[in-house]
Amino acid sequence: MNVELIEYTREPVEAIERAASTCYDSQPSGEGRILRHCYRSGHHSVLEFADFTFRISGVSRALTHQLVRHRMASYAQRSQRYCREDGFDYVTPASIAADGEAGRLYADTVRAIQQAYSGLLRAGIPPEDARMLLPNACCTEICVKMNLRELIHFCNERLCSCAQWEIRAMAREMVRAVAAVAPGLKEYLVPKCEAHAPHCFCTESRSRSCGRHPLLSDLIGKDRQ
Ligand SMILES: Cc1cc2nc3c(=O)[nH]c(=O)nc-3n(C[C@H](O)[C@H](O)[C@H](O)COP(=O)(O)OP(=O)(O)OC[C@H]3O[C@@H](n4cnc5c(N)ncnc54)[C@H](O)[C@@H]3O)c2cc1C
Repeated sequence: MNVELIEYTREPVEAIERAASTCYDSQPSGEGRILRHCYRSGHHSVLEFADFTFRISGVSRALTHQLVRHRMASYAQRSQRYCREDGFDYVTPASIAADGEAGRLYADTVRAIQQAYSGLLRAGIPPEDARMLLPNACCTEICVKMNLRELIHFCNERLCSCAQWEIRAMAREMVRAVAAVAPGLKEYLVPKCEAHAPHCFCTESRSRSCGRHPLLSDLIGKDRQ
């Protein structure tokens, strides 16, 4: 997996605070104080004044199918209609790689699909039809642009231990890339249990919770299995 931040709003905290200052007849604090106030008070529209564009490759189509469910982002993805996927790379989950027999079955099946796909292309079948054989594991490349409001929501959902491992790993890489250029934003790019820090709580059920923070149901004294 490779996650690269290719475009972003320079000085994003200042950009957001400049926009927010219009509302309050104030000046940007320079320290993220106005941003923090807006975030905590629910004045989240100002978070839309900073954009981040990532180029992501070496991830599965299973991952990007989940990613593109996030509707407040913009996408451009490698097309399986226009690009030929001969000998495509693919993602192997750790659970399969760790099991010799499962690993062989998986690799053999992917190889058979690769051969069948190439055979269809050689027979003159257009890529848009041959692609019907391609597996969820097939690697893809996608550009995604999110403003900070959507990026925070994305991280709240996809850094949670309930999210699937591959999209969680990608979300962690996105946070790493943003924190490298805007360290002041890292405190907002957290799983939903930490969205109201220092008051951290888990809204999942007991069986789904990772146990990192207390269950909300325990805190309010209501049982929810
Ligand atoms: C752990 C997990 C498991 C999941 N399992 C499934 C599953 O089994 N099946 C499945 O189909 N999906 C599943 N999803 C996907 C999920 O249902 C959402 O489609 C996805 O997370 C996108 O999130 P979203 O709709 O909140 O936000 P986005 O599309 O990113 O939008 C951000 C926010 O904008 C607002 N918004 C966006 N569009 C609208 C709208 N049309 N109307 C009103 N408000 C809007 C909402 O407040 C929304 O939260 C799962 C997601 C997670 C994190």
